[in-house]
Amino acid sequence: MNPSRRNLIKGLLISSAAIPAITKTAPIAEKVLKELEAKENEEHNDECYGYYYEPWVLESQEKINYYKALNLVEEVNGKYLVKNPLLPDKCQTYTKEYKYDKYELLPPGADENFYSKCVRCGLCYTACTHMNYHTLKLRGLEKGLKYVGTPVVYDVMNYPCELCMRCTEVCPTDALKEVKPSEVKMGVALIDPDLCWAWNSGDCKSCASACPRGSEVFDFHFNEWGVHTRVKGEECNGCGLCVRACPVPGAAIHVLPKEEYEKRIKNFKNTGMTYDEYLELIKKAEETDPFTATIRSSLNADYLLNVRKAKPLESSGLGE
Ligand code: SF4
Ligand code: SF4
Ligand code: SF4
Repeated sequence: MNPSRRNLIKGLLISSAAIPAITKTAPIAEKVLKELEAKENEEHNDECYGYYYEPWVLESQEKINYYKALNLVEEVNGKYLVKNPLLPDKCQTYTKEYKYDKYELLPPGADENFYSKCVRCGLCYTACTHMNYHTLKLRGLEKGLKYVGTPVVYDVMNYPCELCMRCTEVCPTDALKEVKPSEVKMGVALIDPDLCWAWNSGDCKSCASACPRGSEVFDFHFNEWGVHTRVKGEECNGCGLCVRACPVPGAAIHVLPKEEYEKRIKNFKNTGMTYDEYLELIKKAEETDPFTATIRSSLNADYLLNVRKAKPLESSGLGE
C-alpha cells in the first residue's frame, strides 16, 4: 500500500477520539437492526441473509462523535450503527466470528449418495485420528438416528483437512471415493473484504500461502492499495487450511457448504449486490474516489483493531 495513504489511515485512526460531532444524526434505518435482531436466534440454513453478519454498534461517545462527524452514523432505537461508506443507505456489517458461523462439512470424496453408502464402520475416523489430524468426528444423536455414526468435518479452524486422503483409501464401500485432492469438494471458502487485511490496509496473504493449491485457487488483484485476494469458488476444496491461517480473530475467511456459499454470493451481506459486484465497488472507489476508499479502509481497520482485537500486521504500518 502507498505509504502516504497508510499514514492517512493511521492518522484517521489516531484522531478518531478527537473530532467533535458536527453533523445531525443520519436518518434512521430501523429495518437493518430489526432484521438482524429477528434473525439472531434462527438456525443457519433459512432463506434470509441476516444471520451470518452483524453491524458495528458504537459504544464509546468518542467513536460516536467521530463517525457522526463523517456522517457515518445511523441512530436506531438508541443504538448507534456505523454506515457503509460505499453504500451510505446501508449499515456497515461484518461476517460474524467463525465460532458463530461454523458449518459441518461432508468428508473428502463424499457425494450426494454418501448417507446411503456409509455403513458407519468408523474406519475413516480412525485413519484421520491415527494421522493425528482429528478432522473427522463421528456423529452422535444430535441430528437424529439417520446420521448416527457418520463422519463429519466439524471444525476447520482448529482441525482443517490436510487432504492426505487416508480416509478415502480405507473406506470399504466407496462412500468416500478415492478422488484426487484437487477434486475434493467439501465446501467453499469466502473472504469478507471488510474484515480482510488485504482488502483494507495490510499486505496479508496468509490464506493463500496456507492453501495447498495456492494460485490455482486464489486470484490476486494488484493496485496501489495493495494485493487484494479472492478465492475462486469453483476451484476451492473446502479444506479450511486458510481459515486456520487467517490472522483476524474469528477469521475473515470462512468455509461454507456449497448451497450456503451460493446464497451468500448472490446477495452479499444483504447489500443487494453479488459478491463480485461488492468487490468491484471497492476497487472502483480505490481508483476513482480515494477519499471514500480511505475512510472505508480506516473504518474497517478501526473495527479490526478495536472490536475484533486484531493485532496490526507489521506490513500495514498501523502498529508503529
Ligand atoms: S483427507 Fe486426511 S485429514 Fe482430511 S479428513 Fe481424510 S484422513 Fe482426515
Ligand atoms: S481456499 Fe482455503 S478451503 Fe479452499 S482449498 Fe484453499 S485453503 Fe482449502
Ligand atoms: S489470511 Fe485473512 S486477513 Fe489475510 S488475506 Fe486471507 S482472509 Fe485476508
